[in-house]
Amino acid sequence: MSPYRPSRELRLIGSIDVPQEPEWFRRGACYRIGHELFFGPSSDGGHRETPREKEERENRARALCDECPVLAQCKDYATSFSNGLQVGVWHGGNDHQRKLDRRKEQRRTADQSRRERQTS
Ligand code: SF4
Repeated sequence: MSPYRPSRELRLIGSIDVPQEPEWFRRGACYRIGHELFFGPSSDGGHRETPREKEERENRARALCDECPVLAQCKDYATSFSNGLQVGVWHGGNDHQRKLDRRKEQRRTADQSRRERQTS
């Protein structure tokens, strides 16, 4: 089980500046940038993001990730959850990309297991 707070809880809190934040978090390029850029507008704000708005927002968030000094730690964090983080941009990836990465990793693990069974 991950020691970290899942993103849905961070979203409920309304800020990514939380007491349980990992030690590297304050060195992230996103630190104190604003929750909305990485997670989108809050659902109670009345505005639903269009797909184009989401893409533009995520591209701006990714540009920060590209230059972030803790990109590797952020990736470890984001992948430390068994089902992956469901929302937001983390380590330059959005929810869809994380889902694709998880599927790729599951296929790789399954292929490896199959190969090991065939050789034993
Ligand atoms: S990689 Fe992106 S999401 Fe992660 S800490 Fe850096 S800026 Fe924030």
